[in-house]
This record gives sequence, structure tokens and C-alpha cells, in this order.
Amino acid sequence: MPAGRRVFHVPVVICAVLCACGGSSGSAVPAGPSAPAKHLLVVTYTAGFRHSSIPVAEATIQSIGRSSGLFDTSFCRTADDVRAILTVDGLRALDGVFFANTTGDLGIPDMRAFLDWIAAGHGFVGAHSAADTYHESDDYLAMLGGEFDTHGAIVAADIRVDDSSDPSVAYLAPRFTITDELYRFTRNSRANVHVLLSMDHVPADGVGVAGAPADLLMAWRRDYGSGRVFYTALGHREEVWQDPRFQKHLLGALTWALGR
Ligand SMILES: [Zn+2]
Repeated sequence: MPAGRRVFHVPVVICAVLCACGGSSGSAVPAGPSAPAKHLLVVTYTAGFRHSSIPVAEATIQSIGRSSGLFDTSFCRTADDVRAILTVDGLRALDGVFFANTTGDLGIPDMRAFLDWIAAGHGFVGAHSAADTYHESDDYLAMLGGEFDTHGAIVAADIRVDDSSDPSVAYLAPRFTITDELYRFTRNSRANVHVLLSMDHVPADGVGVAGAPADLLMAWRRDYGSGRVFYTALGHREEVWQDPRFQKHLLGALTWALGR
């Protein structure tokens, strides 16, 4: 992405609580007699900017899978992993993928095949810079439903819940406040996605006129063929991944995306 875009990446202290993710794949506690665990691949390879929150993100997602019994977790962390796993053969054993702060062109060998795999009935969840990924792929961005444009300083955001019936955000209704880096997108995709979270006024982060009326989407879901795509713009800071409210948001996202 253009170097001028990301100007406010404030380093934050990595909290040690959830940073114990190692190199091996995790296996979840069985979900119970009626619900075998789904298989989730967490992709954290970055070809552009790399968020310091990635280790915390990996550990958080794995922990959500274990505590819920919903899914087990494997990881895709390097360019070699991408070439080996994000293929027709590599995806065969998976139920969903989670792009956790990926950036840039990841080197997926066959993008059309990857997108077709989602559309065939699998799940895709993207957090934060999943929208700062594959700017050159219209097909990827169309699947995701948004493209990162810019952001300002990290500030507290007043976020509105657009769908208080969706379990991924219902407990946050009608509004909540969270401190994070707040993405803006190149276009408003409200017509193409089911909006879950948005800001109805410009936050005081230096992008635009603070307090001015706006319609800034922050989380959404959409059907993609027979597949399910969920995106949340939150997830820049370690502290967000460690926030129980964000973890509940992700559990709701994954429960839906994995078809439960
Ligand atoms: Zn960020």
C-alpha cells in the first residue's frame, strides 16, 4: 500500500497475558457429543505493515476456539505457508479461514480458487487490516465488502450497533465505546453488506471534522455464494484483542461464519 497512508501507527506495549502462542497448531477441547469441532485456519502472514498485535490475535482466537469448543485452530504465518495451505488441496480439511491483520499481497497461488472455496459454503472472517490486504484484487475486495483507505490517531470511538438481533454485537447495543485505530474505507458498502457496527459521526482522530454526521461502517457480514463472510474493522491494539467484548464479538462472528 502507499507509504503515506499509515501515519499513526503508535507502538503499544505487548501485554504478556496472551502472548504465549507457539509455532504449533492447537487442538480444541471437543465441543460435545453433538457438535464436532470445526477446523479454522488463522492467517497472519503480512506482505506489508505488520501489527504488533498479531501474536495476541493468534492466541486470542485459539483460546476462543478452545473455551467454546467451536473450532480447533491451525496457523498460516509465512509466505511458504500461504503457498502450501491456501490452495484447493490445503483448504480441503478446513471449515473456515480468519485473516487476522494480514496486509498486502499474500501470494495466494490461485485467488479465484480461494474465493470459490469460500463461495462453496465455507467461512471467512477478517479483522482490521484484512481490509488492507490485496488492494490490487477487485475480487478479494468484493468478497470482503470493503477496502481500507486511511486512519487517524488511536482514539475512543462511539460505536453504534446496527443490528441488535445479531449475537456478535447484540450485547453491545445500543452503543459502546472502545479505543482503537479507526479505519476509513474507500467507499461505503452499506448497500452490499449487512451492517453490524458503524459510527454515525466522525471520531476525533484527525480524519475529517470530529463530530460531523457520518456513516462509517465498522463491522458487517455478508453472504458470498453459499459461503459466509464477516469483517470487523477493530483489532489494531493488543488491548482490543484482550477485551472480553471483542472476544465475544469474534465468537459470534466465528459461530456464524463456521455455520453454527
Ligand atoms: Zn492498524
